[in-house]
Amino acid sequence: MEDYLLLKAALVTEGIRSDPASVAEVGTRYKEQNHGLFGWDFENHVEQKLPDDFSLPDGTVVQYRKNSHSQYHVVPEDGRLQLYHNDRSVCEVQWLRRPRYYEKKTTKGNDMIKVGQIGGKDCLFFCYQNYCSHFAKNQQCAFCNLVSTSNVYDSVMRKKDPVDVGEVVKAAWAEGDVNHVNLTGGCITPQREVAIVSEILASIREHTGFDTVPGTLLPSPAKGDTIHQYYETGIGSLCFAMEVWDKKYYEAICPGKAAGTSHDEFVSSIKQAVGVFGEGNVYAIFVMGLEPKETFLTGVKAISELGANVIPFVWSPNPGSKLFGHRAPFAEWYAQTNREAAEIVHDHAVPAGTRNHCYLCDGNSLLHDALREKGVV
Ligand code: SF4
Repeated sequence: MEDYLLLKAALVTEGIRSDPASVAEVGTRYKEQNHGLFGWDFENHVEQKLPDDFSLPDGTVVQYRKNSHSQYHVVPEDGRLQLYHNDRSVCEVQWLRRPRYYEKKTTKGNDMIKVGQIGGKDCLFFCYQNYCSHFAKNQQCAFCNLVSTSNVYDSVMRKKDPVDVGEVVKAAWAEGDVNHVNLTGGCITPQREVAIVSEILASIREHTGFDTVPGTLLPSPAKGDTIHQYYETGIGSLCFAMEVWDKKYYEAICPGKAAGTSHDEFVSSIKQAVGVFGEGNVYAIFVMGLEPKETFLTGVKAISELGANVIPFVWSPNPGSKLFGHRAPFAEWYAQTNREAAEIVHDHAVPAGTRNHCYLCDGNSLLHDALREKGVV
């Protein structure tokens, strides 16, 4: 049987290409990329609609990363989409259905698709402000292409109106597929960000009737009183984008962020957040592949000991980032390291927190899939 974890790792580290006929209905019948925040493809494709993500036969969700030179390609065959690795037929894949609300407008007349987009199968994503102050000083994280993506595609509203967000959540939930929201912004001042998030969550709760909204909030690093303030907005979980566990790698790769929030501050804030949100309802986010396996797993262990979960995104050396043109570790490294990480998380019995985030949420992380192999869903 195919090792789907390894296959997913290969697809996100090598990228994928598609026969034009296989993507003909992307943007009408199937969900297309909308570049709500970062671009993950190996090359830009402004004129071409491509799938946001797709599923493998065992239900694994995979992020689509365009690479015209990839050995993996999709062709239509007998009414199905068949994935090939060079000449070897691998398996059938399926693009994900396009949400109906992508055609609708908010009462203010804004295109709903430009307000919030679905990531993976069931996670409704909002970037409430596509801005990061680190770019102006050339201190951005070396893997980040936020500004370039926004300039190249200009496909979403850069600031989101809270009422628009509430209406989009209501419309998306009514279709029956969405189970979580995921909110994030760029780097803005804590007071301003808490105010923005509070307004947005109030609108979501009003439009849905949720007391606690199932989902994740990833603000600029939350510290001190802001952690409790975010809890009071009614979001189910809080994320901390540590990016890299090793202190020295972190400072080198994320100079702007490290100047504002040290490694130790992240750790103490995560500990505090677990006390407020509860075990399993706090996430440390890493970009995996930028530091050695050993330090990454040390981080997974330390975070698990705090009762928090880990979301390790697979690094894409994407256009517009400082590391464009480099390459990520090979698929075997990702598959093996994630399986070891899953072992650590499982041993520490960190609650899975699947009310807020699950393996269907995005096709970027492999840890959920590795945990699924251990019966955690
Ligand atoms: S903090 Fe880093 S990853 Fe986040 S938007 Fe700024 S540069 Fe990008």
